[in-house]
Amino acid sequence: MTTTIGKIFDLTVQKYPQKEAVYDVRKNLRMTYSEWNVEVNRLANALLHEGVKKGDLVSTYLFNTEELATTFFACAKIGAVFNPINFRLMAEEVAYILEDAKPKVVIFEKALESTIAAIEKRFPKSAFWFIDEDPPAYAASYHHKVKTSESTAVNAEVSENDLYAIMYTSGTTGRPKGVMHLHRDMAEQSLIVINATKLHPHDIGLVTAPMFHCAELHCAYLPRVHVGAKNVILHQFQAQKVLELVESEKITKLFAAPTMWNMLLQEDLSKYKIDSLTLGLYGAAPMAPALVRACQEQLGVALVQAYGMTEMGPAISFLSEDDQLTKAGSAGQACLNHEVRVVRPCEDGPSDPDDRMPPGENGEIIVQGPCMMTGYYNRPEATEHALYKGWYHSGDIGYLDDEGYLWVKDRVDDMIISGGENIYPREVEDILYEHNGVLDVAIIGQPDERWGELVTAFVVRKDPTLTEDALEELCKNSEKLANYKRPRKYIFVDELPRNASGKIQKFMLRKQIEELYSENQPS
Ligand code: ATP
Repeated sequence: MTTTIGKIFDLTVQKYPQKEAVYDVRKNLRMTYSEWNVEVNRLANALLHEGVKKGDLVSTYLFNTEELATTFFACAKIGAVFNPINFRLMAEEVAYILEDAKPKVVIFEKALESTIAAIEKRFPKSAFWFIDEDPPAYAASYHHKVKTSESTAVNAEVSENDLYAIMYTSGTTGRPKGVMHLHRDMAEQSLIVINATKLHPHDIGLVTAPMFHCAELHCAYLPRVHVGAKNVILHQFQAQKVLELVESEKITKLFAAPTMWNMLLQEDLSKYKIDSLTLGLYGAAPMAPALVRACQEQLGVALVQAYGMTEMGPAISFLSEDDQLTKAGSAGQACLNHEVRVVRPCEDGPSDPDDRMPPGENGEIIVQGPCMMTGYYNRPEATEHALYKGWYHSGDIGYLDDEGYLWVKDRVDDMIISGGENIYPREVEDILYEHNGVLDVAIIGQPDERWGELVTAFVVRKDPTLTEDALEELCKNSEKLANYKRPRKYIFVDELPRNASGKIQKFMLRKQIEELYSENQPS
């Protein structure tokens, strides 16, 4: 028997009423678990007064804030479905999600007011709640609603099999899809993370990756509440602020996407005392082994990698602290109670879960486990395809080695085919990251009449004097890179387009290349 997210919260409140639960840095607000419970109950009652019933959606369009965490648990207590929206999305992208999700209440941020103002008229059936004082004419004040509601515990029948959240995927490969999860999925995921990251009640976690994404919310925030640890919430990632907070708040655990770890390394680390940090979790996107090594050496922090996807809650495998050097580059072993398979990819439909690839051979990564989504909201066909024969088909390519470690090569869609050979961009990116003068890199295929695609490198320089020749030399001398995989073209840029969870938006680079390519075609 598992449990509900509301029950997890209530049990922690009972156990640690006087323990500090949350510190919201932007608001300079600290709350114990019992104080926070009052806020959560008030919001739960306010939502009920608004007419929110079990199964109704409540969306948040917020930076990392105490209000987002409060909404998360208030929804769980009344059986409403939590729907966090990416704060980086623009008006039409937010409208796309609101049209799909049809929330009863939308709680939004002052800094994002103009986005909501541009679209709110299209959603007359949703109530808009503003988290700052003086709401605009069409919205109500969140804080006023909360302050004027009773703090008594709500009495709602919520079961582990009820829908707990609809979380939209990053949209790295297309339109975001609403992933449906039940209470029991997340209760399981939380236990798995507690075990993998050795969480204790005395831990203090820094929340700096976006909380609307399941990586931060389910692999860091929720498990810490589950064990009664404390969360320090930073509203948006900022490298110096992260390091200052690690020192002043004695942070012990931190989840950050690879790009964030890279930004921390660019700071003058001698200015900060960060030895309280016992464990760093990285994931949500690939991290080059050279960057993992740099984090270990320069930050002195033990690392654990999580690999996964929103559809699985997200984590499906962990690379433990002990395996970081011996299995550098691998995504580790399947999480507890999960089975990961690598199967022959099928070109005209979902791959067959029983057509397994032998160890060491690439195929599609598929997985089964207790945190698997129920399906995509409003998308029965996509659901049927993704969950074919009860296995989640990830669309990622990789292999299992003979010790059962998973090696994620790339997304099926990012693979380059040049001269009939398959090239996984990650392999080439990992080599280029070995150069000290490289800050960021993305490999994509440029259309080419002769070869089909040409390997093209977009590079952000750390060292402004870095040349194409130096990178070419590195690739030529690398024993890990076959000749045909070497980039044939280098494009130096100031930055790479990334989404809020740190993933490079390769479709934007491809568009850039296609435009260049068509301009250079003879008319
Ligand atoms: P969409 O499905 O809308 O394109 P998305 O796939 O980016 O969005 P997420 O669930 O945020 O949505 O991302 C999951 C993907 O992120 C995985 O399928 C994988 O490609 C990548 N990923 C996550 N963790 C890791 C990791 N540790 N190493 C490599 N890749 C990772």
